[in-house]
Amino acid sequence: MAGTGTTHLRPGESGDRVLAVEDLVVEFPAGRGQKVHAVSGISFDLVDGETLGILGESGCGKSSAGRAVMQLPPPVGGSVRLNGAELTGLGRADLRERRRTMQMILQNPVAALNPRRKVADLVAEGPSVWGGKPDRARIEAVLESVGLDPATVWDRRPHELSGGQCQRVCIARALMLDPRVLICDEPVSSLDVSVQAQILNVLEAARERHGLSMIFIAHDLAVVKNVSDRIMVMYLGKVCEVVPSGALAGSALHPYTRLLLASVPEAAQGEGEQGGEQENAELPSPLNPPSGCRFRTRCPLATDRCAKEEPKLRQTTEGHHVACHHV
Ligand code: SF4
Repeated sequence: MAGTGTTHLRPGESGDRVLAVEDLVVEFPAGRGQKVHAVSGISFDLVDGETLGILGESGCGKSSAGRAVMQLPPPVGGSVRLNGAELTGLGRADLRERRRTMQMILQNPVAALNPRRKVADLVAEGPSVWGGKPDRARIEAVLESVGLDPATVWDRRPHELSGGQCQRVCIARALMLDPRVLICDEPVSSLDVSVQAQILNVLEAARERHGLSMIFIAHDLAVVKNVSDRIMVMYLGKVCEVVPSGALAGSALHPYTRLLLASVPEAAQGEGEQGGEQENAELPSPLNPPSGCRFRTRCPLATDRCAKEEPKLRQTTEGHHVACHHV
């Protein structure tokens, strides 16, 4: 399986590299011998305290990539190393043990919580599974750290909480296990705009307080830009561009990234970005992705070469990598 390059990976001997994902492949059976090519040979890494944003529209494979890192389910191919230890191919017990330091926050917090359990039990559940039921003071401290009043929510069940409160409970559950890596999959997209900022603040505070590294997966460019140190743009299972978040608005090169920027006027106007590329087609089917560059059916710069040859990521400036033949 062709990949989209690894020039954006930091050196393997980097002591502060907590997660290294190489040539990740995720496929799902789709009947009649067909398969969905959800993620096709992508690579990325994460260093201590860093937030990597994964940006792309629905169907680009960003959530599949996040789940594959968690081995939920394991990827069809590729390598996932957490603190240097390979996760793919591990047995169930070993995987559970190793994965403990990597937690996930999902899009729908209400569905993520057992409706029959009280908040205190939900938050205590993780450590209890590992044989160390936390004391009340620890649970209260974590609840307070995510902005919940323990006295108010202690005995409540999920249906008695708002969506934002449920997401705070989910974050508290994750923090109880002292993770090093938090994978947030569209954590605010189901919430009201007014609540989104509060949850983002909770995540940012947790990142600072616990020294977390985060993968932040979302389709909302403004949200990803605000929370991330680096942004990886995905399209139809491939990586298009990896760029420092501060350089996104003014320096994005890939035609797809520029299309995303053009769809958000305030982002396109930032730092001289003119936007300009026009939407000209729907997302092709992941059952049968276009040959060569997968973006070519929507790309205003596409040439014959783009149909024949897959572009590989190459570095343009320090920390900025793009996969395109013509930029
Ligand atoms: S490789 Fe070709 S089709 Fe792909 S983004 Fe670049 S110009 Fe467009």
